[in-house]
Formats: sequence, C-alpha cells, structure tokens
Amino acid sequence: MIGVLGGGQLGRMLGLAGLRLGRRFCFLDPAPDAPAAAVGKHIVAPFDDRAALDELASLCDVVTFEFENVPAASARRLDPDVPVYPPPQALEAAQRRPEEKRWFEKLGIPTASFASATNSKELRNGLENVGLPAMVKAAVGGYDGKGQRIVRDAIAAGDVWATIGAEEVLIERLVEFERELSIIAVRSGRGKTAFYPLVENHHRDGILRMSVSPAADLSPELQAEAGEIAYALLEALDYVGVLAVELFQTSSGLLANEMAPRVHNSGHFSIDASCSSQFENHIRAISNLPLGSTEPVGRATMFNLISELPDIEALLRVEGLRVHLYDKQPRPGRKLGHVTLVDADDRSVDHVRRLLSEPMS
Ligand code: AMP
Repeated sequence: MIGVLGGGQLGRMLGLAGLRLGRRFCFLDPAPDAPAAAVGKHIVAPFDDRAALDELASLCDVVTFEFENVPAASARRLDPDVPVYPPPQALEAAQRRPEEKRWFEKLGIPTASFASATNSKELRNGLENVGLPAMVKAAVGGYDGKGQRIVRDAIAAGDVWATIGAEEVLIERLVEFERELSIIAVRSGRGKTAFYPLVENHHRDGILRMSVSPAADLSPELQAEAGEIAYALLEALDYVGVLAVELFQTSSGLLANEMAPRVHNSGHFSIDASCSSQFENHIRAISNLPLGSTEPVGRATMFNLISELPDIEALLRVEGLRVHLYDKQPRPGRKLGHVTLVDADDRSVDHVRRLLSEPMS
C-alpha cells in the first residue's frame, strides 16, 4: 500500500501506473473531489491533520507526495512510522526558493545570480547586487508563474514588495535563454540512477503549454550536462524517486531554474513515449524495485489542456493521439488533461494545435 500526500492528477497517474504493478494506494487530500480518489482510498483531511497522518502511516508501507507544497512537517512526522520518499529534506530544499538556490550553489550547479529579501530595503539592495532586469519571486508557494514580477527599472521596484505580497522574496537576474528544457531523473532505493531524454518546454502566461522530448537537436553533450546537474542533486539529497530539474539553455551553457521533488508535468510524455513512464519509475524507486528503462520509443509532443476542455470527440478522432483527462472541473489556469502525439509529422502536430486553439509555432 502506497500512501500519497496530495490527490491531484499527478497522484492519479501515479495510481494508474502503480496499479499495473500490483500496488494499492491511499491518498490524503483535503479536496472531496480529488482526481486521484478514482484510483485508491481517499482520506479527506488537511495535510497537517494529525489523526489523518496517523491513519495514513498505519495503512501504508511507504509514503510519497505528488505536490511540493505539502507541509514538510507532515512528511517529517510520518517518517519515523513509515518510510517517506523522496526524503523530507528534498521537500524542504525545494519548498523555499532561496534554499533551493543555495543547494544549487553548494553543489556547483550553474544558476542565475540571486539574492533574498524580507523587506523593501533588502529588496533594493538585492536588486542592486543582482542587477536589472531582474525577476522577483515569492520565496514560497508560487507555481505556474504565480507570485512573480519582472523588474526592469529602479522605479518599478518600488511597488514590487506590495504586489507580490510575500514575507520573503527571491531576486534573480533575468536570464536571456535560448530555450527552456527540463530533465526528469530517477534514483532507486538501491542508489541506481536513470535519466529521460531532455524535454523542451514552451510556456505561456507562466503555464506549461507544450513539451517535446527528446528536445530538438539534442546532442549527447547537452544531455550529459543536464544529467550531471540532476545527478549531483540526487546524490546530495540521498534521493529516492523521480526528480525534475527545470533548466535554461543559454549561449554559455545550462542554468538550473528550479527543481521539483516529484513527478512533473514536463514528464507526462513518458506515459506514451518511453519504455517505462516517470510514474512507473517513481513507484518502482519508492518500492525498492529495479528501475525501468527510460529509453524513448518515439519522439513525443505533449500539449496540456488548460482552463476548459476542447472538443474531446474531435481529439479522439485524431489518429494516434493519446488523450488523458483528469476528471477536474474547468477553471481558469487549471490543468484538466493532456494529449500526446508520438512520432507525428508537422501536419498532425499543427492539426492538434488548431483543435486546442494553440498559437502556431
Ligand atoms: P518558475 O516558477 O521559476 O518556474 O518560473 C516560471 C517561468 O518564468 C519559467 O518557466 C520561465 O519562463 C520564467 N522565468 C523564471 N525565472 C526566470 C529568470 N530568472 N529569467 C528569465 N525567465 C525566468
């Protein structure tokens, strides 16, 4: 029995992969309509509910999480009773942006220069040290581009503190990147590691819209550069499970943007286009089983279905298109599903773009 903190679509897809390996699931999530409830038992309670955490520990052989904003204290509380993977220290490292950047720095992983601030005076100093233009991000809780502002001049810096409304912010040099990439990596309980081919990611309004894997023009050198970054984190954090690292490709090499100590949206391609998906490999890793192959079976193009669902019947009519729906109510900015094409030609990709009203590349 695998316990999961969080019951969103990532939990649902973990469940779907784990059921095939004979695993059972128990999800802790405060939302009564959590998408993962369809694939396991569902404890409806806040993430810090003591009785619910005790119930989860008593029912499960291992606990994982599918959402990095679950309180690290909850993961720590479970830890003596039942193993928690990835280790809670990875959750803590990823939860606070300044802490995450310090891990990058400590491990010699290239990243945009940064400072942190807890008041407007520190913000001014930080902007001066980092240099303009800069990106100011809430230290905790931001995702999908929320809680972020670009600061281009000293005048605009004045109102940033009020508009971000966070107790602490990270100030980062704005990176002029060529493209955004991510690497999905996995480390087993036995210390074996495996890496998926780099993913090229396209965002709009701070939300991932499209991923392609393997990324176009992917050289072995670039793959190795990304693999070394992920490997350093996996080893330093004594990691077990899937780790995603978001990267900027620049003219002077890769810069790490952030890490996610969980299965990741940019790894959804792997369900349909890899020997073993990121979800299956996460389950294998935390269950102390051998890892599955991360080799591609084809080139994948994945689109997210965001805010509202397109004409599903029209999508289902597209030959070879794999449709994944999360059974979520539409809401602006909400991820409701995704679709994946494998080894498709440009015409098919453009056809799907039109059905999704996605701008042409
Ligand atoms: P994040 O929440 O850190 O993943 O940021 C969301 C998106 O904002 C990224 O995918 C980038 O497109 C952009 N972004 C974040 N940080 C920077 C930066 N330092 N320079 C340029 N763009 C950035």
